[in-house]
Amino acid sequence: MTAIIMDGKQEALNVRKFLAEEIAATYSSPVLAVVQVGDNPASQVYVRNKHKAAAEIGMECRICYVPETASEDELRDLILELNDNDEVNGIIVQLPLPKQFDELKVLSWIKHSKDVDGFSPINAGLLQMNSPEAVVAATPQGIVALLKHYVADLRGKHAVIIGRSNIVGRPLADLLLNQDCTVTVTHSKTLDLPSICKQADILVAACGCAEMVKADWVKKGAAVIDVGINRVDGHLCGDVAFEEVKEVAAYITPVPGGIGPMTVAMLLKNTWNAYKKQNPLMK
Ligand code: NAD
Repeated sequence: MTAIIMDGKQEALNVRKFLAEEIAATYSSPVLAVVQVGDNPASQVYVRNKHKAAAEIGMECRICYVPETASEDELRDLILELNDNDEVNGIIVQLPLPKQFDELKVLSWIKHSKDVDGFSPINAGLLQMNSPEAVVAATPQGIVALLKHYVADLRGKHAVIIGRSNIVGRPLADLLLNQDCTVTVTHSKTLDLPSICKQADILVAACGCAEMVKADWVKKGAAVIDVGINRVDGHLCGDVAFEEVKEVAAYITPVPGGIGPMTVAMLLKNTWNAYKKQNPLMK
């Protein structure tokens, strides 16, 4: 058996096409503000990609560059100004921030209705309480959208997540619980990780360890989601040993072309939803 490839690139294109049509039919463009602090090269690439993806669907993306030497007060003033600016529908702060900034504190300054990354403590709490008001973080939202497309009914499935970060593992655990999965969250201190992974109907690897998940960690017929983005000898690879795991799994995401494009599409979708909520009389 060779796994069905879960085509995140195609699914993301479908979402972006839908958004482009919706935006073309409105009288103004949604505006996403991206705050980039310092000049981390990886962040610069991610910000450029978001700008391009937004432009392609008719969304305006304003990049607010803040020098690494800026004070906490200066960064807070910028975020509060964006909160109050009626032209701006969504705000994201590109992570990671330079070490001197407290990420949780900075994220908590974003007004929750404009927090289109869903990383603020209020949105994380709303998600945990299964509130429909929660803005759901883009990567976990993209994972669940892809799972629903391919696996359909997630109820009762045992999902094992490798990684407990605030941007992937934890919100994904909440989201899958809300889909009636039974969820196990594992991390770097988990004992006997392979045997826990082997119990999974849905296995999500989000740990940033190149090709760590091997074929003998995977239950026959499982759905395997690879969130990892690693560079090894100049090549991009995920956290899953794709070639061997695809012979055991029923469904698998590739890297690239799996969760990465879904993440960008869900960020755009969150911004569009924020715009609609802020403009209830539109259309
Ligand atoms: P992180 O470094 O914040 O968290 C990593 C998590 O993995 C931690 O909870 C840690 O305990 C766990 N972990 C580390 N080593 C482990 C091991 N050997 N065994 C078990 N658990 C281990 O990372 P993150 O921000 O959650 O990102 C994880 C990966 O996903 C990275 O490769 C990142 O680049 C990628 N990522 C991809 C997307 C996307 O859109 N595709 C989005 C976000 C993150």
